[in-house]
Amino acid sequence: MTDPEWDTLVLGAGVLGCATAYHVMRSDPDRSVLLMDRNPRPAQGNTRRSVALFRDLFTSSTNQALASSTIALFDHVEGDLGHNLGLKRFGYYWMMDPGKLDDLRPVLEDLERHGSDLEIHDRSDVRALLGDHIEFDPDPPLDRGPLGSVAGAVMARNAGTLSPSRLAKWFEMEFRALGGRVEYGFTVDRLVPESVRGNGLRVWEDGRVAAVEGASGRHRAREFVVAAGAMTPSLLDPLGVDSHVKPRTRQAFGLVGEGATALHEDNGFPGGQLPVIVLPSAGVYLKPVGSQRMLLAGCADDLGRPFGLDEDPRPEVEFLRDQIRPVVEGYLPGMRGAEVKVSWAGQYHSNTIDGNPYVFKEMNLTVVAGASGSGIMKSDSIGRVAAAVHLDERSTELFDGHLMNVADLGIKGRKVGPEALII
Ligand SMILES: Cc1cc2nc3c(=O)[nH]c(=O)nc-3n(C[C@H](O)[C@H](O)[C@H](O)COP(=O)(O)OP(=O)(O)OC[C@H]3O[C@@H](n4cnc5c(N)ncnc54)[C@H](O)[C@@H]3O)c2cc1C
Repeated sequence: MTDPEWDTLVLGAGVLGCATAYHVMRSDPDRSVLLMDRNPRPAQGNTRRSVALFRDLFTSSTNQALASSTIALFDHVEGDLGHNLGLKRFGYYWMMDPGKLDDLRPVLEDLERHGSDLEIHDRSDVRALLGDHIEFDPDPPLDRGPLGSVAGAVMARNAGTLSPSRLAKWFEMEFRALGGRVEYGFTVDRLVPESVRGNGLRVWEDGRVAAVEGASGRHRAREFVVAAGAMTPSLLDPLGVDSHVKPRTRQAFGLVGEGATALHEDNGFPGGQLPVIVLPSAGVYLKPVGSQRMLLAGCADDLGRPFGLDEDPRPEVEFLRDQIRPVVEGYLPGMRGAEVKVSWAGQYHSNTIDGNPYVFKEMNLTVVAGASGSGIMKSDSIGRVAAAVHLDERSTELFDGHLMNVADLGIKGRKVGPEALII
């Protein structure tokens, strides 16, 4: 007896694999679709290690479209369908030095005119909200290079956090409700190529992927989606397919103490709710975790941070001490001496060209990769684009009705605008 052949096999049950599997099933309910992961349940890879922020504040119109439609889906799932995603909207307060604020002002004013829920603040507005907590012109820390002064900030309101695991689980649940099947605890060691005639590869014949193989067996399918996150290059490189992304470690540190408590309890933001604070240097950000009076600090370092797969990345105390703390304490002196309550590390699958996801098809393989640090907040839109690419459609309608040309996220014919607001 030969193994059953699935119409579609989706490898990876992170938020992007779950979203893609759901949208493939939604678009083509007669398809037999198998979603697989090596973990015992969805969202146990880097989706679980995310800081889980979302925002629609982007300068690239592609990013805006992907994120704002996905945020509208979050509201729908929680508000209309009553499925608790742990959604909290507290906004982003993105502080900038004079050069950055001057450069971005025209773009930000344009976004505001076109309906983005944002406000541009000058120094006096920042002072009114953050009072004595903030140092506008910090001294250079540790006698090193200067930290830029605070010229103002952008308050973006359509932003906050949610539970990425609940979100991925919701996509997976809807996928199964439509008849999709799952197999967990199956580690794929390799994708098996063959000629389209069903035997060994010959250079003059077209090839395709026929199956995935691991210690637990083999699954055949007509078409595949690879959404294996940071593992994607190590699965595709042996096949000679370039995913165009590289894994890189990112870290998060939960800081507590008097300074963090004071910021939570004594600020001028509406309702006293602290937003995400982005400091003007190096994109260091602080996510408020009000229930624990904690600020979760992160920073995306590039030069000196090697690329490479690390299946069990660990947070580095030196990175916090030497890179993050000097910036946080420079702008927020009350944070000196804050203690680390929690910390973790995960890996981005980074697209180093433009920071946007890649969704493309090669042979019978759809690749969904490169979500970098924004895979959660763009998940529904990326899933829709990936499903459309997989089903050979040229465009897709995002949740909010925006029509997107799927080639925009591909390799050939790629069209994504420049993004100036990356952290
Ligand atoms: C520290 C940190 C902070 C972040 N903060 C944010 C944020 O604030 N907002 C945001 O939107 N995004 C954020 N991100 C990015 C976000 O987490 C990712 O973009 C998103 O989770 C990617 O989802 P994914 O499905 O592609 O990957 P994953 O969640 O990693 O899913 C890939 C799945 O594939 C499975 N898999 C891989 N290889 C195999 C194999 N060989 N066999 C079987 N299964 C396999 C894995 O088990 C995994 O479940 C952050 C990431 C990190 C690390």
